[in-house]
Amino acid sequence: GRARDRGRRMDIHNSHDEQERRHALHLLAQVPRALDAGEMYLVYQPELDLRTRTVVGVEALIRWNHPEYGLVSPDQFIPLVEGTALIEDLTHWVLDRAVHDSQTWQIDTAPRLAVNISSRNLMSPALIGHVRDLLARTGFPGDRLELEVTETALTEVEHAHHELLAELRGMGVRIAIDDFGTGYASLAYIRKLPVDVLKLDRSFIQAAPDQLKDHQMLRRIVQIASDLQLKVVGEGVEDRRMLDLLADLGCDQAQGYFIARPLPSAELGAFLNDAQGLSRVQRPGDS
Ligand code: C2E
Ligand code: MG
Ligand code: MG
Ligand code: MG
Repeated sequence: GRARDRGRRMDIHNSHDEQERRHALHLLAQVPRALDAGEMYLVYQPELDLRTRTVVGVEALIRWNHPEYGLVSPDQFIPLVEGTALIEDLTHWVLDRAVHDSQTWQIDTAPRLAVNISSRNLMSPALIGHVRDLLARTGFPGDRLELEVTETALTEVEHAHHELLAELRGMGVRIAIDDFGTGYASLAYIRKLPVDVLKLDRSFIQAAPDQLKDHQMLRRIVQIASDLQLKVVGEGVEDRRMLDLLADLGCDQAQGYFIARPLPSAELGAFLNDAQGLSRVQRPGDS
């Protein structure tokens, strides 16, 4: 199927494998310590504007450098944390760190900062309070912050909580629907939500150059999304064909290894300042 198993099956409540279950609980129990002990850090993946061919945003992605297991992928621990109240602490930590890191980048034009949040963050008032304090404390402009929530997570959030999204938008914060196309949300449903950005899952993008049906579906989605005044971002762009296709279809932005890999905070400023870094994503004829 199109929906990929991103480790979400490693769920402490559903795992049939006792050993896997124990390892999961063991990892989960270590998250608070890892956050305090500096084992977690963020990397930043640039998002390219397909018209100007400049970086207009960066997505913060968490990394865990575990003393025993080495680099643990977020797909291995985020789904676990999302099942507990600990996701509030983790999301607050990510927001604080991302804003802090962004203030160390020596750049002229600051990109928008995108942070991934979970459905649980949208079902409690803590997030709003935290974001409001963070913006006030740091002077970071609300309209430079974007919060990404997956399509699947969003459908878990009850209607009553949609006003939290509206409140965040009231602070200028943009809301993006992540991994669109992997769940069952329709564009008719999304039309009613206070959201700004649709991030198309990489399974769509990667199939589209070769599969006619995927290509046509992608074209329709981009059309409808722009009719709904949503910005459309294509994820998982791994080669020039995918990039050109998204540009031809009228997608607004693109993200993927072909444009740039997620970079450590200390390398991002240099990347953004160096036009050479983006030379291969310029249109032929552009300088
Ligand atoms: P996501 O938010 O959809 O992030 C995109 C993922 O695709 C990232 O994986 C990124 O490294 C990867 N990626 C980017 N370009 C390409 C490409 O061209 N090809 C391929 N194959 N992959 C690409 P990562 O960093 O392993 O994160 C996986 C997921 O974990 C994220 O998916 C997000 O759902 C979650 N996650 C990561 N950081 C955080 C966080 O700070 N908080 C929360 N709640 N979730 C996070
Ligand atoms: Mg994301
Ligand atoms: Mg995604
Ligand atoms: Mg994802």
